[in-house]
Amino acid sequence: MRTLISAFALLACSVTASAQQSLPTPQPMTAVPVAEAARPAPPRLIIVLSVDQFSADLFTEYRGLFTGGLARLAGGVVFPQGYQAHGATETCPGHSTILTGSLPARTGIIANNWYDLSLTREDRRVYCSEDPSVEGTSSASGRYAPSINYLLTPTLGDLMKTADPRTRVVSVAGKDRAAIMMGGRAADELWWLSPTGLSSYRGREASPHVARISAAVVAAVGTARPALDLPQQCAARSRAVDIGGGHSVGTGRFERPAGNFRGFMASPEADGAVLAAGASLRSVHQLGQGPQTDLLILGLSATDYVGHTYGTEGSEMCLQMLALDRELGDFFTRMDASGVDYAVMLTADHGGHDLPERNQQNAAPSATRVDRGLDASALSTRLKAELGITIDGPLLYGDAPFGDYYLSRSLSAADRARVLSAATQIIAAHPQVDRVVPGATLAAMPIPHGNPEQWSVEQRLRASYMAGRSGDFLVALKARVTPIPETGVGYVATHGSVWDYDRRVPMLFWRAGMRSFEQPNPVMTVDILPTLAGLIGLPIETRNLDGRCLDLVAGEGTSCPAP
Ligand code: ZN
Repeated sequence: MRTLISAFALLACSVTASAQQSLPTPQPMTAVPVAEAARPAPPRLIIVLSVDQFSADLFTEYRGLFTGGLARLAGGVVFPQGYQAHGATETCPGHSTILTGSLPARTGIIANNWYDLSLTREDRRVYCSEDPSVEGTSSASGRYAPSINYLLTPTLGDLMKTADPRTRVVSVAGKDRAAIMMGGRAADELWWLSPTGLSSYRGREASPHVARISAAVVAAVGTARPALDLPQQCAARSRAVDIGGGHSVGTGRFERPAGNFRGFMASPEADGAVLAAGASLRSVHQLGQGPQTDLLILGLSATDYVGHTYGTEGSEMCLQMLALDRELGDFFTRMDASGVDYAVMLTADHGGHDLPERNQQNAAPSATRVDRGLDASALSTRLKAELGITIDGPLLYGDAPFGDYYLSRSLSAADRARVLSAATQIIAAHPQVDRVVPGATLAAMPIPHGNPEQWSVEQRLRASYMAGRSGDFLVALKARVTPIPETGVGYVATHGSVWDYDRRVPMLFWRAGMRSFEQPNPVMTVDILPTLAGLIGLPIETRNLDGRCLDLVAGEGTSCPAP
């Protein structure tokens, strides 16, 4: 990992040297109107960091152990109870809230995958960041055409570029959906990690500089890694948990053979690569060195891969947390050396929950795995037999044994009503199910606002519901029911529920010289856009936003516009 960062650092240094020769003459500070004298001058660069699956619980557990970049951010303005307030706590909806100020009910990103039964292609499932109209595609990994078309709201970068076309926006992430949902339509650079290094939309050509970063990523993946040393804090958390089939999790140390891309992604190396690529692209585009404010967006996905592969406790997550802290520290050190006046915001797209097998051992005996019988295809088979309905294809479509369920369009009106009634009765009576909510019920509700801690389950579901995209009915499982029926190597734990362990994420703001404060009352990730807009003095239309500007100035003064 260190090796990788060093390799990237060398790459970026050569770029920095050439970039510095063409540094623009420093511009005079923008005059601050008298009426706004109490407002801080805008930073020249906003750095947005999303740490995939970095739950408020992880932040709490490891906060005392941070000494690097996360310790720096924890010394800024800290909101330990930020809410990804909606019910569909998945990566795509979560990333769509961070820089749009809007809940998924408005961004249109209702889940990672949903069904569009009007599609003419064979695969009616759609992936949130694809364009299904492209010939020969399907929603399966590696077979879709990456696209931002499903995002219905502008991002901070889009708004900044509209207000000042000189603004530069760079978005790099471990996952395409993170880079796309935060980067927006107008990003100058938008890349994600892939087995070929950095990838972007089809047909987007890599500059020679991006090609060099790609080559460094490929070389890193192609290098075998020995097990990481286990520091004493992580040794205390290292204990094997049996996941069946002769396998266990909890004691891993990220040893991996050469060329194992999945292993690379589920290790601290992946975040190191994104941070290094981000620092390098910042340098080559001279972000933060012009008179305008620029935007650098980095999606750090390794925590999520580690959580899914090994769970949220154990040696693996401990090593990941400490490595992330150290890598962010190195990244900020490089940012400091650039001399750019930058502000940082770090949050997450959703929280997470440990695997039931370890929860059961660790004083949470109710934790369990979902019954496969709740799956749409299992229910379809059962209901076809019980109701005597014979149509081609399933009666019900759904991407998981919870969330959105869709009724086949081949059903007659009468059969549709019978299937809906029978399916919702079976599901609602299941002991693992908290509730079943018809889409029509949600459609009739207003989008919720106010304290997200107190939202009802229906309100949470409403916040990620959109008529025409969401299911005909939605299912919320009970708390601590993990929606993975059977554990297996590579996928033991997940998120996605309506419960607070999946909704609560930290929101951390930092800038050099900022007076720190902590606000433990709930805030929301939809507050981030108006907050950053306030910080840089960007006027925005707030009428249709779900968030509010959080004043980052401790005591007198404000970073928000006058109401
Ligand atoms: Zn995620």
